[in-house]
Amino acid sequence: MSTLVVAEIKGDSLKKVSKELASAGRALGGPVAALIFNGTDDQCKELLSAGADVALKATLAEYSPQGAAQIAAAVARARGAQLVLLPHSIQGKDFAGRLAVKLGAALVADVVGVKGAAGDLEVRKPVYSGKAYASVKVKGPAVLTVRPNAIEVTSYTGESKIEAVSEGEGSVTARLSDIDASGGSKVQLQDASIIVSGGRGIKGPENWPLLQELCDVLGAALGASRAAVDAGWIAHSHQVGQTGKTVSPNCYIACGISGAIQHMAGMGSSKYIVAINKDADAPIFKVATYGVVDDLFKVVPALTAEFKKVLG
Ligand SMILES: Cc1cc2nc3c(=O)[nH]c(=O)nc-3n(C[C@H](O)[C@H](O)[C@H](O)COP(=O)(O)OP(=O)(O)OC[C@H]3O[C@@H](n4cnc5c(N)ncnc54)[C@H](O)[C@@H]3O)c2cc1C
Repeated sequence: MSTLVVAEIKGDSLKKVSKELASAGRALGGPVAALIFNGTDDQCKELLSAGADVALKATLAEYSPQGAAQIAAAVARARGAQLVLLPHSIQGKDFAGRLAVKLGAALVADVVGVKGAAGDLEVRKPVYSGKAYASVKVKGPAVLTVRPNAIEVTSYTGESKIEAVSEGEGSVTARLSDIDASGGSKVQLQDASIIVSGGRGIKGPENWPLLQELCDVLGAALGASRAAVDAGWIAHSHQVGQTGKTVSPNCYIACGISGAIQHMAGMGSSKYIVAINKDADAPIFKVATYGVVDDLFKVVPALTAEFKKVLG
């Protein structure tokens, strides 16, 4: 099935989800074209090795949802793409709807799995705050936003190339004027494959360094429960849950978090959940893959020390 992947860059790096999308397109049979705005050849090569047949370099002087949708729609039409995959990121969500309208395609958001053939897709997505999964049948062209970490990156060694595309952004009436990046974690929560999260059990903001040290050793992002955010211990940008971020890492380490339904709505689809809580009856243990019933102030430093030894 002819698939167009729209890649995303953060700083100087290609976001891992972009490679996941290329691999998803490859698993559906290809051909796969990957569109990248202002990308480098090295970033294009990463897309090619993850499943794209062709990496298409486009120029977008300044990001706008209108401009991005205009270019992506023109490229999708030119290549006869029946499926367009975007990251379920702030940027992907920002222009996926506009792109679907331009292409007359169905839009399914927050996808965690896709199979089928052109014009007959079956798409899996969480519903009811992650308490259930829905299978959505799509009978025509489709635009999907795919949750980071939901698809495995596979390597591709087929024939591939890098091309420049000349589609313009058209007339743009709304532009992003500013981004306030204050309070963000060192590693972005939604892209992280490991998250260490703290709740009311960490007792106060002076104890974040304990969790941050574990994050640094594991290359993890720092998350928090709403109780910790509401107490003013950390910025809302770290909050995981129904009124915070939805994450799907390979490993979620919950420290001093009880596991309220609203918290689990944001992290329940994590592959492995590790809970550290001194209350054996805490609901988090119902979803935990591994549980430690003990004081986090004892367990977290011990884990950090052990991981330092193992990971060097
Ligand atoms: C509409 C709505 C939306 C909400 N949205 C969110 C959301 O997005 N995200 C979210 O997280 N919550 C959300 N909540 C709040 C949610 O209901 C809970 O109140 C919140 O998740 C509790 O946070 P917590 O687990 O950190 O605190 P608590 O429930 O107080 O749990 C603290 C835990 O720490 C353990 N503990 C204490 N000391 C230690 C120690 N030394 N070592 C180990 N364990 C220890 C305790 O045993 C306890 O289980 C929402 C609520 C509502 C009503």
